[in-house]
Amino acid sequence: MEQKVFFIKTFGCQMNERDSEIMAQSLSTYGYVEGMDIAGADLIILNTCSIRAKAEQKVMSMLGYLRKNKKNKPDLKICVAGCVAQQEGKRILKKMPHVDLVVGTQNIYNIGELLLESSKNGPQAAIGLDDKYDIPNLLPTLSSRNQDATISIQPFRKFVTIMQGCNNYCTYCVVPHTRGREVSRKSNDIIDEVNALVKGGTKEITLLGQNVNSYGKTNSVSDNGNSYSFSDLLREVSEVKGLKRLRFTTSNPKDLTDDLMRCFQNIDNLCHQFHLPVQAGSDSVLKKMNRKYTVRQYLNLVDNLRHYCPEIALTTDVIVGFPGESPEDFEGTMNLLEKVQFHGSFSFKYSDRPGTRAGSFEEKIDETIKSERLARFQARQDEISFKRNREYVGKIKTVMVEDCSNDSVKSRTETNHIVHCAKTIDARPGDCLDVTITRAGQHSLQGKIINPG
Ligand code: SF4
Repeated sequence: MEQKVFFIKTFGCQMNERDSEIMAQSLSTYGYVEGMDIAGADLIILNTCSIRAKAEQKVMSMLGYLRKNKKNKPDLKICVAGCVAQQEGKRILKKMPHVDLVVGTQNIYNIGELLLESSKNGPQAAIGLDDKYDIPNLLPTLSSRNQDATISIQPFRKFVTIMQGCNNYCTYCVVPHTRGREVSRKSNDIIDEVNALVKGGTKEITLLGQNVNSYGKTNSVSDNGNSYSFSDLLREVSEVKGLKRLRFTTSNPKDLTDDLMRCFQNIDNLCHQFHLPVQAGSDSVLKKMNRKYTVRQYLNLVDNLRHYCPEIALTTDVIVGFPGESPEDFEGTMNLLEKVQFHGSFSFKYSDRPGTRAGSFEEKIDETIKSERLARFQARQDEISFKRNREYVGKIKTVMVEDCSNDSVKSRTETNHIVHCAKTIDARPGDCLDVTITRAGQHSLQGKIINPG
């Protein structure tokens, strides 16, 4: 089989990063290997995100730019995958006739077959969304993405998708429209995948889903048909021999149970960091967002979490400028930030998304006001993050090495803080070290290696 080279550009979230790995593994069975640049590629894949208006514009301008590559290399294949592909479908083929294939979020496992079809029958769009979709079980082969694994994949750390889609229909969100109904993978398939990864050298696993807290709620995931929750899965994955660290993302507060919060107390290798998107600090805005919890309920969850795990590092997502957000509503968001003192947050200006209910809401907020609110929120968050980082100075922390140069080591604490140290001992990605935190920066920490962890 003639060897061909593919290049993947991944936009957006960790789900997309994992989907790019899945497409890479599928393509490797069709004689493709991964290249590190566009120039040498026979196939270019844009794995897209449409969570915000800006993300979509980026994809369209990149496709425009690729028109000349196709002109210079007529056999070049161009494929658009991910959420913009799902959302726009055939419209992309119309607007960008140099695109060969549009692959929707439930079709990524068949990318190899779909490429062969598009070579035979011309440009294709495969964007079917099936409510009864069953996530194929693809056991990892560690060398799938590049012969020289040290360049692209750090096998010491891996994402594992446990579910796809979402049934919550928050009014601003495209995910239920682009990734379909919630479907959870069989627990045994997930355990098999984690076992294979850990056997292959992986030390840290992050379980991925749009709303992992509702894992196993919409379809049966156990072989005996008994109910099986996300905390059951966490307990079982954590027992995989050799797994040093376990993380998960993303959670919806409305499905956060006491049993799941207790896992932070009872599971030794579950990292003490938790991403719990709140989105806004006003009950009237949360209602319009269809988030199904109140500010009070969110604060109670935070208190409970800190009861079970006082040192937990909490991060969140916030949208400012949601339609109808009054100055008082926004003050509510600022007050919530003061009360919770998040270690960090991802904050964005609201933007209309195709097919979402909020897109047709009135009382849209002026762009300038949105920018002012975002700047104020981010400035205060930066102050709090820096204060939080200073709390670690003088403490001894176990870190996992991520990257090394001749004289320095980049690593991460289990609370997800980056730590830079002078390289005083031989270390490589995946190693655990004990370090003393010596200095705090805005976005990372400095440390001194005391001994191998
Ligand atoms: S829970 Fe998350 S993924 Fe689901 S609709 Fe709401 S914001 Fe989107």
